[in-house]
Amino acid sequence: MGLLDDLDRGLLDLIFPRDCAVTQSPLDQGAYRHLSPEGAAALPRIADPRCLTCGHPFDGWLEGERSCPHCIALHPAFDRALCVFRAKGPVRQILHRIKYERSPYLADDLVAAACTDEPFRRHLAGAVLVPVPLHTAKAWSRGYNQSERIAVGLARLIPGCTAEALLEKHRPTESQTRLDRTQRLRNVAKAFRLKRGQAVDPSRRYVVIDDVLTTGATLHACATVLRAAGAKSVDAAALAHG
Ligand SMILES: [Zn+2]
Repeated sequence: MGLLDDLDRGLLDLIFPRDCAVTQSPLDQGAYRHLSPEGAAALPRIADPRCLTCGHPFDGWLEGERSCPHCIALHPAFDRALCVFRAKGPVRQILHRIKYERSPYLADDLVAAACTDEPFRRHLAGAVLVPVPLHTAKAWSRGYNQSERIAVGLARLIPGCTAEALLEKHRPTESQTRLDRTQRLRNVAKAFRLKRGQAVDPSRRYVVIDDVLTTGATLHACATVLRAAGAKSVDAAALAHG
């Protein structure tokens, strides 16, 4: 964050005092810019046991064979995906504001809250974080790529990580929200490619970063490109599991 950004924020805070994005109560100084301690505690988190492939929680499951309904037919190009939150309640609302209400700054607090999750930190530590890209037209109309902001924020807080925007989306795709898994896979297949002039180092571990993992189709498509470019170790991570 630059000095000007800090000054702007200070000025904005004077004019528009900040409220907690979850409880709407006025905010004082604290660990987060837009979350009160109560708001941060109310974010629904995923705990173990969870699916070792897509990170979906196995609520109420006991010992024995587990087959995950969320990724059983996916055969993802990534080895393991991990998510911190469930995309419901306040997390769903914040993600919606980040994406559709021009509030990218809210991602910084979700990132900071996600980094208090020890398994998530271990999952990312030392990796190259590769944000899921937006198509240029979408990036222009939105003004930012939330996944890139998340990857940069994570790289700032987790030791040994770098964020590298290695991929581009060269084909626009229709919104995934109303599609089932098969349609989503078809929709995003071949939509991504390595940016011109970028290369993959086979000795490094790559983690594809998105805001939400729903079926895993987008993360799979990005991981496929990294594998084809020579990456040997590819994982995925999202702030929330849809
Ligand atoms: Zn799964």
